[in-house]
Amino acid sequence: MDKLQDIFTAFIYIVNQPQILEDIENYQKNIHVKVLKAVHTQKGLVCEKGCAYCCYGWQVKLTFAELFLFLKALNKLDNSLKKEIVQKLEKFKERYDENTPCPFLINNLCSVYEARPFVCRTFSSYDKKLCEKKITFEFPSFIEDIIKNIVIPMENSITEEFKILFNTKTAITNIQFDKEKEVFYVNIFDFVKIYTLGDKYRLEPLKLYKKLTGEQ
Ligand code: SF4
Repeated sequence: MDKLQDIFTAFIYIVNQPQILEDIENYQKNIHVKVLKAVHTQKGLVCEKGCAYCCYGWQVKLTFAELFLFLKALNKLDNSLKKEIVQKLEKFKERYDENTPCPFLINNLCSVYEARPFVCRTFSSYDKKLCEKKITFEFPSFIEDIIKNIVIPMENSITEEFKILFNTKTAITNIQFDKEKEVFYVNIFDFVKIYTLGDKYRLEPLKLYKKLTGEQ
């Protein structure tokens, strides 16, 4: 319950000062860049463009901070691609199994590659056959080092009220599509709807916000 309250509090700040979303996005971008650099220094990894075995059979989870960037990248895709993803996402929400691709995987490439979350960014293999045959293997130990040496120190330097957005995960199935506006969005507790248009975040108050503020 405490965690929920903390998340809710962070979003109350955001609704009152929406520019906070830009700061969160920039900070998250910084984390992404550092994580990627650390992955790229590893020797012997076999991961390469077009190899997408790791994009099948599971539901990606991402932090709220990662989600904002993810939404922005999704909303920058062209409309035909968005429609394709919407169909895949809706099917995925109904059911997925070990052979189901992530709904954002298009032609074996991640459609939001630059904004992919930590879990996708660090998923690494030294043996492609294990991925191909879906054989479970231990994640390389450098991922733990990245968490310890990069992610945690960076999270620790975030203003207390917003830390929760960097260390609490939500699922990709919480992403929805507004057919009228043709944008992907998230509904936060029926309090606020968040989406992006171009480079700008847009916030729309929802039922709970209106109830709490008396706004019609
Ligand atoms: S978000 Fe992108 S990288 Fe991650 S599983 Fe989906 S398609 Fe693959």
